[in-house]
Amino acid sequence: MKFEDLGLSPNLMKAIKDCGYDTPTPIQEQAIPYILMKRDVVGLAQTGTGKTAGFTLPMIEMLAGGRAKARMPRSLILSPTRELAAQIAESFDTYGKYSKLSKALLIGGSSMDDQIRILERGVDVLIATPGRLLDLFGRGNILLTDIRILVIDEADRMLDMGFIPDIEKICSLLPPLRQTMLFSATMPPEIRRLTTKFLSSPKEVAVAPPATTSSTVEIFLAYADPRRKKELLHEIMVHEKIRNAFIFCNRKRDVDLLATWLKKKGYDALALHGDMAQSHRTETLGKFKDGTLPILVCSDVAARGLDVVNVSHVFNYDVPNNPDDFVHRIGRTGRAGMTGRAWTIVTKEDEKLIQAIEKNIKIKIQVSDIGLGAHKQGETGDSEEKSGGRGDSASRSGHRPKARGRGAETRKEADPAIREEKRAESPKPPRESNHKHGSERHIPAKKAHQPPHRKPREDDDSSGSSGFGDDIPAFLRPKS
Ligand code: AMP
Repeated sequence: MKFEDLGLSPNLMKAIKDCGYDTPTPIQEQAIPYILMKRDVVGLAQTGTGKTAGFTLPMIEMLAGGRAKARMPRSLILSPTRELAAQIAESFDTYGKYSKLSKALLIGGSSMDDQIRILERGVDVLIATPGRLLDLFGRGNILLTDIRILVIDEADRMLDMGFIPDIEKICSLLPPLRQTMLFSATMPPEIRRLTTKFLSSPKEVAVAPPATTSSTVEIFLAYADPRRKKELLHEIMVHEKIRNAFIFCNRKRDVDLLATWLKKKGYDALALHGDMAQSHRTETLGKFKDGTLPILVCSDVAARGLDVVNVSHVFNYDVPNNPDDFVHRIGRTGRAGMTGRAWTIVTKEDEKLIQAIEKNIKIKIQVSDIGLGAHKQGETGDSEEKSGGRGDSASRSGHRPKARGRGAETRKEADPAIREEKRAESPKPPRESNHKHGSERHIPAKKAHQPPHRKPREDDDSSGSSGFGDDIPAFLRPKS
């Protein structure tokens, strides 16, 4: 199929041509015709499939010609995170550049006054995170009675972040006669229930199995003593050819601590998480996107949807609590056919999470020998039998990791107003993906770039006070 076959207006075709797109992606090919027929649509697609254009293009087409009244937007797109909402808004600007539609981005952490001023002028498209939308609605700054098109993006992420009650509330405030589209990478029962309750005879379209990892990403586990995770990360980073990397932590506090520690080690690294001021978040992400910042230490706020081309590495400093988040995190690399490498630092406590991840992605992940540095420090004295757990992975690598877990650190909530990550941070039992597609993929032993083998240096310290500046390639060091 060609874009011409979708029957889009010349303005949209011109914008698509400017983007250099040749053909619609499978989700666009499947969803756009139904959206243009004003059908409700459930789209099973993860980020990277072109789903944003899949709903944005037909929305621009359908909204063209109408006019919004003050405080009464004509369409609404709900996004779980501010970053994703901002990215959708950018897509609207890109695809709608020859169409005279107005939009407002309603996200927390940005000036409410500015948002209210834009709403007063009347907007065709509202792109919002649920919390800020409900705040402005509660203050009477917005009326939802003119919404004719609703998009719920990343519905499963909304579920993970505890936004489903907000979504239900918002849906109940909208006119019943509307078109609704819901996009989700997975379809857990709670989301299925949402589609039954709020969508009318939706057309279901699905692309690429959600719980699979890209075949262009090589994945490794490295076992660590819980007290020496930073040192192990540094050790891996020194040996990998890193162009740029996301480093994911489960807790916001650890994001800050790790970013600071890496900076002390001489890396050009910054933190990104939901407790930061929005302007700071936007600026930091901008630097990472434009290539001036090579290392981004982040929470799961950056796990989904963020489209940064050519990311060479993803590091999971912590194993994610939800197996689907593993897929989303490592999906930040290996995009658009590029290759990427993803490392996960594992402690003995993480065994169950790793098992759930492997079950989800249907891959036995290769274990690196590099983590053996942990027990070499003499801090773990478990026998192989006592260390338990990954007998299978040990046989794969030929070594048995011996890290011994200590209790996970407790966390104090920094800001009760920021709900999005608080909810995502709280450990949950792994949620099983209900998608059964996806074939088993093994990294071929000779093809896989062997993970580095390196004994810890005698001067490795765990205090983080002395630097390894000379080990760090020049391009990863901060520009002075
Ligand atoms: P998304 O899944 O919406 O995050 O999109 C992922 C990437 O695909 C974005 O960088 C888009 O610019 C790009 N994209 C969207 N549609 C197409 C298309 N038809 N052809 C090529 N690239 C596309």
